[in-house]
Amino acid sequence: MDGLRSASDTIAAIATGAGEAGVGILRLSGSASQKIATILTKRDLTPRKAHYCVIHDLDDSVLDRGLVLSFPGPDSFTGEDVIEFHCHGSPVLLDTLLRCCAQLGARYAVAGEFSQRAFMNGKIDLAQAEAIADLISSSSEASMRAASRSLTGVFSQQIGELFEALVSLRAFIEAAIDFPEEEIDFLANSDVLERIQTLLAAVETLLASAKKGRALHRGLKLVIAGAPNAGKSSLMNQLVEKQSSIVTERAGTTRDLIRERLAIRGLPIEIVDTAGLRESDDPIEREGVKRAREEIRSADRVLLVCDDSIGGSRENAEELAEIFRGETSSDIPVTVLRNKCDLSGRTPGKQLSLSEVTEINISALSGEGVDDLRDHLLAAAGLENLGNSEFSARARHLDALERCLLSLRSAENQLSRYSAAELAAEELRLAQEQLGEISGRFTSDQLLGEIFSQFCIGK
Ligand code: GDP
Repeated sequence: MDGLRSASDTIAAIATGAGEAGVGILRLSGSASQKIATILTKRDLTPRKAHYCVIHDLDDSVLDRGLVLSFPGPDSFTGEDVIEFHCHGSPVLLDTLLRCCAQLGARYAVAGEFSQRAFMNGKIDLAQAEAIADLISSSSEASMRAASRSLTGVFSQQIGELFEALVSLRAFIEAAIDFPEEEIDFLANSDVLERIQTLLAAVETLLASAKKGRALHRGLKLVIAGAPNAGKSSLMNQLVEKQSSIVTERAGTTRDLIRERLAIRGLPIEIVDTAGLRESDDPIEREGVKRAREEIRSADRVLLVCDDSIGGSRENAEELAEIFRGETSSDIPVTVLRNKCDLSGRTPGKQLSLSEVTEINISALSGEGVDDLRDHLLAAAGLENLGNSEFSARARHLDALERCLLSLRSAENQLSRYSAAELAAEELRLAQEQLGEISGRFTSDQLLGEIFSQFCIGK
């Protein structure tokens, strides 16, 4: 199996995070799990019951007292026999226990191997397995909830329904092909075209939801720019919501970038302050400018803060955006913020959407207009109406859904224009494969290996 490990051996890993903690969990999966647990606890374990046990090492010394649970396969997370040791959260203790398990025949698990086994044994599909990793790495409450919905199968179920509809449609068309003398009438008199169009509409809707889910997990990367004293720091402070944690990195040279992480109504946001973006002869400053340009190239939008209380920012928003894009050799979307509207007298929150640039009047000092900026940022990311139905999705899911749409459109075309049933059936087969890539039915071992290697060890 290219990229995948053999699933016949027993794996072991510390499932809880590194460092000291109240409780630490070590997990085993595979046919030797129960035997190892019996040796270390010196007792038989009743399935799915928490046992308060003495846990021994291989010299029969007491290592710890803790809870031990046995989940015999196939009714376990991985589908195999699983054992969990809930010990005191000492890294040294857990390492010692892990070594004991290894000496009794278990192998150290690689990243994502438990989830990979759950997938291989049909306990979860690939989109659900990915949702586990997305849940663990989620950086805001909304993205965490979306990943949790994907994990429970919200996304997979919709993919499964579309897959089944495609299977039955293909079977119908292929049956018509098998009886060529009746083919034309059979297809002309049936509702095949409507069924393809219904599928097209359903995939389009699912793609739109998946795009939201992708944006929600990935969040937005914003660059904040503007002259000194324009109000950039004041705006950063306004944007930070009480519940979000802020991490400020200020390492390295004085010309380094400042990065803040926050959430706007649940959407994870990274803001990079690129103050000091100007040409210079100083090599350190030049390095800072180079880094700022790189950040701008990978950002979703720039917030261009102008001090509207002084005469210097009277250019129109499009001119300001053009100047910024020229200076940074980028074509990044721009939002111009007319700051200090409490001094300039402009109406706070008022938005002006020009062809490519949006201008908003704000006061970073009082906070007026900042809510309108939040609305605008969510709308620009397609996330204005966040509810309780979002699920997380990844770039590869969007890619597969887009290819699926192309195949369905082509199938519709082959049938409606050329009555080419065989070509239409082939396009439907491709569409089916593309959906199967999402759930993992048609996914190469190499891609599976890549996906699971990005998980953490013990998951
Ligand atoms: P930065 O250099 O761009 O980060 O600008 P700061 O956020 O440090 O702001 C520079 C000065 O302008 C500070 O004295 C702020 O209090 C003031 N300031 C920022 N925003 C506003 C605003 O909307 N109205 C008023 N009146 N003063 C502001």
